[in-house]
Amino acid sequence: MKIAIIGTGYVGLPSGVGFAELGNEVYCIDNNINKINMLNKGVLTLYENGLDDLFTRNVKAGRLHFTTSMKDGVNNADLVIIAVGTPPHPVTKEADLQYIEAAAQELAPYLTGYTVVATKSTVPVGTGDKVEAIIRKSNPKADADIISLPEFLREGFAIYDFFHPERIVVGTDSERARQLISDLYATFENTKLLFVNRKSSETIKYASNAFLAIKLNYINEMANFCEKSGANIDEVALGMGLDSRIGNKFLKAGPGYGGSCFPKDTNAMSYMARQYGVTMPLIDTTIAENDARPALMAQRILQLSKPDAKIAVLGLAFKNGTDDCRTSPAIQIIEKLLEKKADITAFDPQANVSALKLLGNKIAYADDAYSAVKDADIIAVLTEWKDFTELDWQKIASLVRQKVIMDCRNILDATALKKLGFKYRCIGQKDE
Ligand code: NAD
Repeated sequence: MKIAIIGTGYVGLPSGVGFAELGNEVYCIDNNINKINMLNKGVLTLYENGLDDLFTRNVKAGRLHFTTSMKDGVNNADLVIIAVGTPPHPVTKEADLQYIEAAAQELAPYLTGYTVVATKSTVPVGTGDKVEAIIRKSNPKADADIISLPEFLREGFAIYDFFHPERIVVGTDSERARQLISDLYATFENTKLLFVNRKSSETIKYASNAFLAIKLNYINEMANFCEKSGANIDEVALGMGLDSRIGNKFLKAGPGYGGSCFPKDTNAMSYMARQYGVTMPLIDTTIAENDARPALMAQRILQLSKPDAKIAVLGLAFKNGTDDCRTSPAIQIIEKLLEKKADITAFDPQANVSALKLLGNKIAYADDAYSAVKDADIIAVLTEWKDFTELDWQKIASLVRQKVIMDCRNILDATALKKLGFKYRCIGQKDE
């Protein structure tokens, strides 16, 4: 199958590499010429676990191409996937569809033969109708079905998720499109392909992300309670998660959810609901409480340190396994700390460069964790990288000025650290 993917970002690139690995001829299209030049030179433009080897192998095999040319990619394609960004509008927070609409406009003239055009970007309900209208108007002769094919990958696990999807949701009422998508995923014998109408498919994506955000906010609320009551949130989550009706995923208390999806999608869902005259207080409360969390975290860090303290931050990415810092709680906490004129040196195993683009030189960046903690008065762990649990904490004890840790991810071994003389604080446990 010839597949064109428009948008070579955190969704488009791993998906393109994955479809090529399945034996398809894949054209990854992006209008960012620097990105395409780098990829054509064999340089990856983002970090994602396990992407490197698959990328090299499929480029070598001649199945994976990178281009800025819509014509080269879309001509004769069986499937065109739209995977451009849908960022939040700066004021209304609704999903900004300008990139989707531009992509539909630009691809339409090059459709040849029967083509399925699938929107993989997360888009408001009814966007499929808009994409269809743009394509039909621009190229009335096109033999195309416009479908919804939402993406559920998790950054940091994008490659694993591509090859082990729990479900593929397809929004279409076209039998031909249904057949093509079934053929595309034929190798995933154990994966449920769910065919629904286009609007249901678009809604499933928002409904899923909003649900997960609410679940995370719930455990963070419970953590606040545990901090006062003396219960331990990790034990509480463990006990809750053993109930299969609740499940143990997304029950890890922390500094709030972040990244390029949950904050944006909950806001877009709330906006959409208001447009339909529907109130969604559960989602609105979640947004408000999560927005307030970075300030709460910063306050806890500052309470543990003196005014001119040197703060070592471990972790900048919004989660482990990625270099993505978009709406990262770590960045938001740092911004709150900077408002109080904090002196910060940070280290992230993958995200120093992405963070530099957001924070500039307002903080110092270290090449490794040991350099970051040198002469620190407090260490704040803000991303759940496994690397941090494997550090030589005895060595760190000898490098810091004060042995104080605020573990906003509850990943470190409290008992071992206390033995080394550290004052250890974390989420959802009463301070001793
Ligand atoms: P991204 O910003 O990393 O990538 C988008 C890419 O599209 C950019 O490289 C941009 O240059 C390119 N682009 C924009 N307009 C273009 C055009 N007209 N022609 C060609 N290229 C164009 O975004 P992302 O994180 O990959 O997200 C893409 C979509 O997928 C969003 O709607 C997002 O909500 C959704 N999504 C993201 C994830 C995730 O984990 N990142 C997961 C599921 C769904």
